This record gives sequence, structure tokens and C-alpha cells, in this order.
Amino acid sequence: MTYFFTLSAPPAVPIVGHALAFPVHRIYCVGRNYADHTREMGGDLRDPPFFFAKPADAALPVHANTLGKVAYPEQTQDLHPELELVIAIGKEGKNISQASAHTYIFGYAIGLDMTRRDLQAEAKKLGRPWEIAKSYDHSAPIGPITQRTQCGELQQATLWLEVNEARRQSSDINQMIWSVNEIIAYLSRYFALMPGDLIYTGTPAGVASVVRGDLITAHITGLETLRIQIT
Ligand code: MN
Repeated sequence: MTYFFTLSAPPAVPIVGHALAFPVHRIYCVGRNYADHTREMGGDLRDPPFFFAKPADAALPVHANTLGKVAYPEQTQDLHPELELVIAIGKEGKNISQASAHTYIFGYAIGLDMTRRDLQAEAKKLGRPWEIAKSYDHSAPIGPITQRTQCGELQQATLWLEVNEARRQSSDINQMIWSVNEIIAYLSRYFALMPGDLIYTGTPAGVASVVRGDLITAHITGLETLRIQIT
């Protein structure tokens, strides 16, 4: 059967050293995967991390050595960027073991889980879902993907975020409560992971507001730096 109209193509994330792009299928996000961030959000450290999702077209790919432009979203007075390691999935899998998890990883990138914090606080208070806070259009800027075959498995890497050259977030991915392999194993018990899936792995402490004009630099050692401006 032929469609009445065609959908727009999925976002195309650049791949370091490659002319072809990575198409986005789904975006999963881990909540409270660093103890210091759980603490600053007033969460209970005994609670395990959890998942939420954004639509695929929330992804906003930014090319290497390019300043991405991110529009300040509607309906908020408190926009926070969350610095996160992103896992790009390259192979289909369910019930994946931790030992084999790395074979499903296409590569890694730096991502920002943009959050309308005021709307999230309201949703939490009312026990409602987080979509209007977390899953709005262009809420997931992402830099170029470095293939695992190039950078190896990332088990330890410094990550930091600067706003107008002032350091706000600084940690190491070895501080994640669930490691990359644990995230893949856990998530694949609930969803069939597919090529094109992105997993935002959570943010360390130091989240705070940005305003129009702010320049955000996001760094993870070994990956392409992500730079955006809020417009
Ligand atoms: Mn996050």
C-alpha cells in the first residue's frame, strides 16, 4: 500500500571520518545515573536509575567544529542542559548479556538532555509523566558519533560542561551508577534495541539554567566536542 504522504527522514547524526550519517530510530534516556546529581535533585540514593524516552526527531545533530544553534523552547522560564555520554546502537538485540553488550555499540557521542526544569518539577509534584519537560522538539542536541572500532570501549573518560567558559559540570563516566554495559543489558530486557537507537546515559551534578545567547561547550575525552548557542 502506498502512503497518502511521506514522513520526513529521520535525523542524520554525523559519523567521525565517514561521509555517511547515523539515522536515529529511538532515543532512550537514563534518569539519576550519577549519585551527585540524584543528591542535587533531592532524590533517594537507594532508588535505582530508571528510563524515559524522547521521540527520534528530538535529536538535533551538530557537525564537528560547528556551533549548533538551539532555539530557547516555548513554555519555560527554566531551561537546563544536561551533559551526557550517548551510546549509539548498531545491532538489533533483546535480553543482551553484559558480557556481549559492547558488540551492540556502534559508537559514542556527546549529547545534551535539554530539560524544561520548571515543567519537570510540576510534573513530579503531580505524579505526571515528564514528556512536556523532556521530550519537546530539538530537546536532544548531539555531536558526531565516534565509532567503537576507533575509540574502543569507554569505561573511563572525563566529561565536563561549560557555559560561557565557566565550568558547571565535571565528572568521569566511571562515576555512572549503571555502566554502559549494564544500561544496555537492563534496557534490552524491556525493549528490543534496534540499529539507530540512541541512549543518553544520565548527567552528573551541576545542572543550572541557560538563557538566550549562552554558549555551551560539552566535552568528553576521546569524543568530538559539542558546541551550541541558545538562540
Ligand atoms: Mn538527563
